[in-house]
Amino acid sequence: MNYRHAYHAGNFADVVKHLALSAILLHLKKKDKPFAVIDSHAGCGHYDLSASEAARTGEAEDGIKKLSPIAPGDDALGTYLRLARDVTGHYPGSPLIAAKLLRNQDRLIAIEKHPEDFAVLRDVLSPWRNASAECADGYVRLNALVPPFERRGLVLIDPPYEAEDEFQTAARGFAQAYRKFATGIYLIWFPVKSDAAAAAFAGEILASGASKVLRIDIALDDAPQSAREKLNRAGLIVVNPPYGFDTQMRGALAKIAPLLGRAHPAQTDVTWLAGEGR
Ligand code: SAM
Repeated sequence: MNYRHAYHAGNFADVVKHLALSAILLHLKKKDKPFAVIDSHAGCGHYDLSASEAARTGEAEDGIKKLSPIAPGDDALGTYLRLARDVTGHYPGSPLIAAKLLRNQDRLIAIEKHPEDFAVLRDVLSPWRNASAECADGYVRLNALVPPFERRGLVLIDPPYEAEDEFQTAARGFAQAYRKFATGIYLIWFPVKSDAAAAAFAGEILASGASKVLRIDIALDDAPQSAREKLNRAGLIVVNPPYGFDTQMRGALAKIAPLLGRAHPAQTDVTWLAGEGR
């Protein structure tokens, strides 16, 4: 396990993932009924953007820091930006965003395998009684935790894709959880290193039988990944997205794409792979 998210925190891919996460949680909060969030690959919970790791890659400069001209409104983008601009100079990871958006009746289970990152995560989540951190394998724990007793909620699957077969492992982990919790919302992040690999991954998710599947893509520029050192394209698969989430994401992405792009606005795409708009 060499991957450390501290080098990538606040990059363009985090921005889109955390925007989608915020939007889904705001939808879940529209009903009083409690819900659970299971974050299978949680990371540290927060990241110091002035630390050497972030400085070494400069990825936040090419991500969240480019969004500083946007004045946060009342929508999901505004909610995310207010959280991301927290006064401490730290960028919030997915478990901290979730913890801050949960109500008393909701629950967060955040799983992180790396012992050092887990130790930070446990401290970051300690102020929230309804948030727990576990040092374990995210796929094993996900399978044991679904369905949550609330029978409502979000599963975030955000692995590092370090291992050659992580696409298959992530798709299998999702399929296993989906069989037991088919009404849950699933947010699955993936890097787009080639169109073929991304399409194959989407195909594996669809093979689980999920009937409402949305894909979101962002590309910072047209350069093929093979010609770049850093990731320039990323995607999200959202299974069972809340009603109206697709339109909301299109609107939010239209606001951030001009700022995130390089020579041109970033290219973004929100496409139904199964269900609703198909
Ligand atoms: N979800 C986080 C966020 O958005 O702020 C970022 C997570 S980062 C992309 C992936 C994390 O998964 C890393 O912190 C890594 O240590 C952890 N990890 C790797 N393999 C894991 C496994 N099998 N189970 C749980 N965590 C794992």
